[in-house]
Amino acid sequence: MAVPPDLAAALIAENFSRDAGGVLRVGGLSVIDLTKEFGTPLFVYDAGTMRRTYRALCAAVTGFAEVDFSVKANPNPAVIRVFHEEGAGAEIASGAEFDAARAAGVPPERILFAGPGKGAADLDRVIAGGIGEIHLENREEMVRVAAAAERHGATVRVALRINPGAAAQGGAMRMGGKPSPFGFDEEAMDAAIDAVEAQAALRLVGLHLFAGTQGLKAETLLGQWAYGLGLAARIARRTGRPLETIDLGGGLGIPYFSGDAALDLGALRAGLPDLIATLRADPGLASARVVLEPGRYLAGPAGLYVARVLAVKESRGSRFVITDGGMHHHLGASGNLGQVVKRDFPLAAVVDGGAAARAATAVVGPLCTPLDMLARAAPLPPLAEGDLVAVLQSGAYGLTASPTGFLSHPLPAEVLVEDGRATAIRHRG
Ligand SMILES: *Cc1c(COP(=O)(O)O)cnc(C)c1O
Repeated sequence: MAVPPDLAAALIAENFSRDAGGVLRVGGLSVIDLTKEFGTPLFVYDAGTMRRTYRALCAAVTGFAEVDFSVKANPNPAVIRVFHEEGAGAEIASGAEFDAARAAGVPPERILFAGPGKGAADLDRVIAGGIGEIHLENREEMVRVAAAAERHGATVRVALRINPGAAAQGGAMRMGGKPSPFGFDEEAMDAAIDAVEAQAALRLVGLHLFAGTQGLKAETLLGQWAYGLGLAARIARRTGRPLETIDLGGGLGIPYFSGDAALDLGALRAGLPDLIATLRADPGLASARVVLEPGRYLAGPAGLYVARVLAVKESRGSRFVITDGGMHHHLGASGNLGQVVKRDFPLAAVVDGGAAARAATAVVGPLCTPLDMLARAAPLPPLAEGDLVAVLQSGAYGLTASPTGFLSHPLPAEVLVEDGRATAIRHRG
């Protein structure tokens, strides 16, 4: 795909629209009208875009893998429900996320529990609730899961999360050989398998590999998945039983910055026959369910974060637009959620007829810290007090990945648009 000259405009054309007056619309509804009804700041999600994205990914990996939803990307039960209606199970990382997935209608056997620090109370909660599978990340946790299983008189299905070794650094894979708090090191895999096999209350059924987030290259993902199949085959050989699940993690990326090219689903599809052949050829793998569990890829493109301009200020030759929205709701857009280099998320004026001249504009939030910046140099038309701006790619790692308590502003509403109707799925604080 060609590099889009203005990523925000390209994303609006792909997932949203503008009417004749240049007003941004979500699922056919005017963003101005949505802010009149629900106030600002505001998260808006388009269920139609979520469904289209889910179906396109499933179609690309059909015959190879099923697609679950990683709840931490957006744990609102109404969002989980959209993906579940499309066929997704849920990957969760806490007892509260288990409850959110259950509230969304996901049956417990379609839920898997990952995360490096699962405590006894959360384990009791999910085992009592009949969870499908728990991913083991370290020795203490394995013992804790076994003890919880015994307390409930249950046999719990578990998978081993493996942190790949140096051999996984080759080619396009870009993973492996590094120290990590997640999972068992590949070098210790056989010992970990034997330790799980010695626990009567645990049944080792699968492998879990999650190599890293925001992968935009098909060849990188294919290399990681192929490596995962090799690890899975080793587990099946050592236990002497066929594997039931091979969880290859999430990590499919979306374009955030100008110059990012979207993941090429066609290239992903083209690489799958080799992996499918590997699965079929190995009796230890042939009957396994292969699972992908993306969060960002599924939920990100469907969301907007809308904020209202409070002031426009020139300071020594730079233009600052001060809004009511900021890093307290959207840490990622401020560049403070793990980004090494701070670059601007795609951001647009809600009303933009395209005629006005654009100028590089800093968009800042209301917090008393220079970190609270939604864009450093967004190409925006002139704006005034009362106007609206929208951050694109805001459906994943938005509100619940942000320091919402910092400066004690109220929580924004979250709104889901579907079939021409807008529903508050979280009310304003
Ligand atoms: C965070 C996480 C995911 C989702 O990651 P994305 O990059 O959003 O796809 C999937 N699996 C596990 C275990 C995770 O921790």
